[in-house]
Amino acid sequence: MSLDQYGRRIDYLRISLTDQCNLRCLYCMPEDMSFQPASHLMQDDEILRLARIFAGLGFTKIRLTGGEPTVRGNIVEIVRALAGLPGVREVAMTTNGVLLQQLARPLADAGLKRLNISLDTTDPRKFRHLSRWGNVNDVMAGIRAAEKAGFPIKLNAVVVRGVNEREDVVDLARLTIDHAWQVRFIEMMPLGRIADFQLNHIVSENELRATIEAALGPMEAQNGGRLDGEARVFRLPDARGTVGFISSVTNPFCAACNRARLTADGKLRLCLLRDKELDLLNLLRGGAGDEELTALIEKSIWYKPWGHGLAEQSYPTHRVMSEIGG
Ligand code: SAM
Ligand code: SF4
Repeated sequence: MSLDQYGRRIDYLRISLTDQCNLRCLYCMPEDMSFQPASHLMQDDEILRLARIFAGLGFTKIRLTGGEPTVRGNIVEIVRALAGLPGVREVAMTTNGVLLQQLARPLADAGLKRLNISLDTTDPRKFRHLSRWGNVNDVMAGIRAAEKAGFPIKLNAVVVRGVNEREDVVDLARLTIDHAWQVRFIEMMPLGRIADFQLNHIVSENELRATIEAALGPMEAQNGGRLDGEARVFRLPDARGTVGFISSVTNPFCAACNRARLTADGKLRLCLLRDKELDLLNLLRGGAGDEELTALIEKSIWYKPWGHGLAEQSYPTHRVMSEIGG
């Protein structure tokens, strides 16, 4: 079992499989984003070796992310291998959904248990604007395929002031009335060289809740108001599904954080919103053995930062979101 110095049990590993993406969401990466050469990224056997070490340290949940994880070659085989690791109880994925029409069933068959699909608006024009070139119909088809393959549906929406903070939010929340889905609204976080844009276009949970309740009625807190993962969850009147809020900026969940992250280039990052990293891939390629890597990972986890520094206007500057994986 991996504990940090504050007594938090760290057992959830998010692995970014690639920094590449088939979209260019404007809250995630700059338009002129450049990507790393493939040789700088973890190869399949390197991902598996590190994941096995984390599993040995008591990590039970792995989430695959990116960039866009589904654009990684061998994605189905990677999922199958990770799902088969001793100690790993759940392999999940966060995806933009564009390729799910083809991949949802093979991923389910390979042992993927959960899918979070990003959808910021159902309006085709605004979707294209937010993703810089995407087609919302691809994502809707992906959601249907995921449902057919038996995945519980969780949708993630990032809200950007001036683009999707009003009727789009209401339309997304309305989906939970007829569908047993969870639609989660994520406060935009500042990272890297697009931080000014992000800070200037953030919409708070309080504002979102007021917008939704004014249009669709009062929401009732679920789970006795406790967090479900990182989300605070509510239900609209007579709704089959739920509405969640992930409010890392105005209502952080750092005290309950159980995560470690591996970036696509093999760096261990203990806080999404702090730059400090340990270069595991370099150590591994330099010949470090499993025991040495295990000891270094354990030590880094012990020193996991208590929380982010957004309240003190301190935010990460080295990477943008697509390079870490959310
Ligand atoms: N490409 C996949 C996707 O979009 O779901 C996985 C990677 S993406 C970086 C993971 C999550 O981070 C997505 O739900 C995305 O909407 C969210 N995200 C991206 N930039 C963000 C930001 N600045 N603040 C908050 N969430 C962000
Ligand atoms: Fe790609 Fe996901 Fe970032 Fe959008 S949020 S650019 S889909 S990595």
